[in-house]
Amino acid sequence: MSEFFSSKYKNLTPYVPGEQPKERKYIKLNTNESPFAPSKNAIKLANEQAEKLFLYPDPDCKELTSAVAQELGVSSENVILTNGSDEVLNFAFMAYCDKDNPAVFPDISYGFYKVFAEINCVPYKEIPLKSDFTIDVDEYINSNGTVFIANPNAPTGIALSLSEIERLVSSNEKRIVVIDEAYVDFGGQSAVNLTKKYKNLIVTQTFSKSRQMAGARLGFGVADKEIIADLMTIKYSTNPYNVNRMTAGAGLGAIKDKEYFIENCKKIIENRNYTQNALKDLGFTLTNSSANFVFAKSDKISGKDLYLKLKERGVLVRHFDKDRIKEYNRITIGDYQQMQIFIQTVKSILEEI
Ligand code: PMP
Repeated sequence: MSEFFSSKYKNLTPYVPGEQPKERKYIKLNTNESPFAPSKNAIKLANEQAEKLFLYPDPDCKELTSAVAQELGVSSENVILTNGSDEVLNFAFMAYCDKDNPAVFPDISYGFYKVFAEINCVPYKEIPLKSDFTIDVDEYINSNGTVFIANPNAPTGIALSLSEIERLVSSNEKRIVVIDEAYVDFGGQSAVNLTKKYKNLIVTQTFSKSRQMAGARLGFGVADKEIIADLMTIKYSTNPYNVNRMTAGAGLGAIKDKEYFIENCKKIIENRNYTQNALKDLGFTLTNSSANFVFAKSDKISGKDLYLKLKERGVLVRHFDKDRIKEYNRITIGDYQQMQIFIQTVKSILEEI
């Protein structure tokens, strides 16, 4: 740290993304990316935009916003496109958290929430998940502040029902609730339709997982038009051109290729079922995941040892050194062959101990 770094950031602990090692080729099951290529339509439209890179992109992202809105059954004024869903989440922290409205989120959830609170210098409160890793909605109903919940949650993959979300959102219409649906397309229930009924609800989604575009950085928020106007104020005060031309082109191509989207979500769900069953057969305990990853622990080997031994053998999964979950690993669901190799590798590790 230099002597010039602002005192407000001196204690900031940045988010640590999953490893992206280059020294050898791994089976990468550690960052919840899709194992599949983007839609051909997405690549085609991105290439067309590559020719126009000398021009700024449309700051309003009109065409893509309208296509996303149409897909979701809302109006364009209810949608904001951002540089990954991380950006719209950060905008929500900027717009709706302050000393009177602390950020409230689970103790085990997406690690970036804490970082967003810290970089925006807003107080936050972490509410422990129950012992079975589920969310106790009443604890949020009884808290003051702006709520951030990933649904399905990460890294557990456990989903909350829509009725529980509605109970939370409707319990206090003066409280903003942000539902982060990064993984909703793999079996969760989306709260997008509830944004038509409740002005205090923001739903965020991403093209990174179910639309095979993690490298393009595209996400969005859906909410009442006044909320979107607030988020636009933040966007135009930070980076009006937050979605670049090629990404907007790819997004348009992807959102229109519904068949490919459905087919790939189906494959991930099938591969998840295969992985869950195979891990159960090997004696693992798993959470009930509705996401493109599973969260599993074995009583034969510690979470850290399994992670390290898998890495030695060329398979990368995500291990979190956090007390309540350190016996677990989060394993992204890849294609069928990758999951077969993963299971075979786990089997051989367990046989050796
Ligand atoms: N929310 C959750 C729960 C996530 O796990 C991620 C991915 N790391 C994101 C949001 C952000 O994803 P992106 O910025 O790629 O849309």
